[in-house]
Amino acid sequence: MIVMKFGGTSVEDASALCNVAQIVAARRYLKPLVVLSACAGVTNVLIKTAHDAAAGNKKEAMKGFAALQERHNTIAEELLGPESHRAKEVFESDFAELRQLVHGLSILNELTPRALDQIVAHGERWSSRLLSLFLLRERIPAEYVDARTVMITGNEFTKAAPLFDIIQEKAEKILQPLLDEGKIIVTQGFIGATKEGITTTIGRGGSDYSASIFGAVSNADEIQIWTDVDGFLTADPKIVSDARRIKEMTFTEAAELAYFGAKVLHPSTILPAVQKSIPVRVLNSRRPEGEGTLITNTAPAYPGCVVKSVAYKKGITVIGIQSTRMLMAHGFLARVFEVFERYKKSVDVVVTSEVGVSLTVDTEADVEAIEAELARFADVKVEKNKVVFCVVGERMKLTKGVAARVFHALAESGVNVELISQGGSEINLTFVVDESDVEKTVRALHREFFSDNYDEAGLVDEIPE
Ligand code: ASP
Ligand code: MG
Repeated sequence: MIVMKFGGTSVEDASALCNVAQIVAARRYLKPLVVLSACAGVTNVLIKTAHDAAAGNKKEAMKGFAALQERHNTIAEELLGPESHRAKEVFESDFAELRQLVHGLSILNELTPRALDQIVAHGERWSSRLLSLFLLRERIPAEYVDARTVMITGNEFTKAAPLFDIIQEKAEKILQPLLDEGKIIVTQGFIGATKEGITTTIGRGGSDYSASIFGAVSNADEIQIWTDVDGFLTADPKIVSDARRIKEMTFTEAAELAYFGAKVLHPSTILPAVQKSIPVRVLNSRRPEGEGTLITNTAPAYPGCVVKSVAYKKGITVIGIQSTRMLMAHGFLARVFEVFERYKKSVDVVVTSEVGVSLTVDTEADVEAIEAELARFADVKVEKNKVVFCVVGERMKLTKGVAARVFHALAESGVNVELISQGGSEINLTFVVDESDVEKTVRALHREFFSDNYDEAGLVDEIPE
């Protein structure tokens, strides 16, 4: 069997859902279990509306729900025609409950995470209801499964942790027999329930994670993440006109890139799949004929292809901390990091020398307060509008001269490099440049590394028009 996950933009309206149905139907022989996100934007509206209600803003909340009901009814009519009443009845009963909740919340004037999950978990159920009814109308044996019967989690509402052993049992009891019968399962990402049956969600953007868990517990042959990009690319095609689609990469490479705004998938998504060595394929629902990017535990070596991708993240702040007290002393770094720990601030790149440490953070929140605290025991310099670049490739650790090529190419293009770090996973080389040098840097590196031999080796391919 395979898992096919479709994100919000892939199910945003009737024509998108119709397209999804075609993609699924064409892969029916692979025994798909389909995992859907809510229609694009719906989760955000549900969250906002819940907050409006709890703030006593009843009118606004009612308006929010009315607009959502209208949107889903319209999709139902366009998709299901005369049979739309079956979907609309379900929606009406859900929205009746939500309208009641508006009164309750506005009286309580409080929105608990538990109540929020109960509200937010509707989005995925609506989109998957629509798809399953449409498939049935097309005489495709779809079976709507409420993910809350399988995806059992702890009670950490809004970011609940899936309980794998129980999910495994439930999958064997509930999902397997349906697949054996030849049913196409249509279920939801993002949502789950506690052992007691109370609705939970597993964190924003959690549908990929759900898909990967469903795949892991069902021993899927492949997990397909259908999105609106063609897979992982060698560079941002807006900057580099001959950017290429990467056909194959390793889980580790994908995880490195994920942080760098390659919004293709989130690293935690990958974990359950990695542990079971299940390949993940990223595909474009707007161009289903494409092959996307295949992510596996061990991508085969492509001769001459050392660097897989060049990624970057803007909006970085560099904090330089210097103190002569650091010289030959211990405990200085611990003191520095203790400050970041206290502000729960995650640090990305760290470079130390004997008298100083430079590090990067990716939001400006709390930077001023942190600066003030550090200034009590060190000289601090804060620089904003920087970019972290990352050159990724599993084979970099085995290849000599990659760093020399990177920095030579940058020097030739007149880019000033500010921090350099290589180590850790050894599959990336990370450095910081000023935001004004982003395009120059991307182009220089692309020119240096993604030459024609990548096409010849078969690692990359054109991005389809
Ligand atoms: N609908 C949820 C969200 O927007 C989950 C997802 O799309 O992955 O966060
Ligand atoms: Mg989403």
